[in-house]
Amino acid sequence: MGPVLILLGPPGAGKGTQARILEEDFGLVQLSTGDLLRAAVAAGTAAGAQARAVMEAGGLVSDAIVLAILRDRMAQPDVAKGVVLDGFPRTEVQAAALDALLAEAGARVTGAISLEVDDAAMVARIAGRYTCAACGEGYHDDFKLPAVAGTCDKCGGTAFKRRADDKAETVRERLAAYHAQTAPLISYYDGKGVLERIDAMGPIDGIRQTLAAVVAQVAA
Ligand code: AMP
Repeated sequence: MGPVLILLGPPGAGKGTQARILEEDFGLVQLSTGDLLRAAVAAGTAAGAQARAVMEAGGLVSDAIVLAILRDRMAQPDVAKGVVLDGFPRTEVQAAALDALLAEAGARVTGAISLEVDDAAMVARIAGRYTCAACGEGYHDDFKLPAVAGTCDKCGGTAFKRRADDKAETVRERLAAYHAQTAPLISYYDGKGVLERIDAMGPIDGIRQTLAAVVAQVAA
């Protein structure tokens, strides 16, 4: 299978934004467990019903639920092009399960890219963000407005949405969960020799270029 890239970083670091860009620039498939879980909640599946309260509180959904959802998605044929994982893995159990799943396909993690940001800036960054309800393109009140107010640049949609868990108090819980459970994965991937760190505090386009150079190198 194609490259398997992981984007690591706290909520608001730009994982989703950059994953969508990598999809465009490198033909990879973006795989976001947050998006898959929100879809399960919206569809009212049993897993979605269990995940909902945990997500609203800013905690981590159980490894069992997340891994079941990820395995289903990884079984689809488009994944062979290569994937950029955004928001997964978030625990060491998930990281080990991913290694095992990839090993079955004779693959392994190509690169884990840590988007390094200041925590203090993340609450403000998250508070201003929203997405197109039709195509999911991301926008921000301060950093990325649509070219024509109220109209999505990508698809022309005119309805936008904000995430229920992007409230300041929930964001603080999500940051705490990140530091307690996900940040240790930085050393996990460093130990495997696949870690790359990039400064992700600047403008979206600058980060896109830095990331493109790193991806071109690791995926070569
Ligand atoms: P995200 O869109 O990645 O910020 O995820 C939103 C929420 O979904 C998180 O705050 C968690 O509650 C849940 N979630 C997403 N991915 C995972 C994961 N890999 N493990 C556990 N919970 C997750």
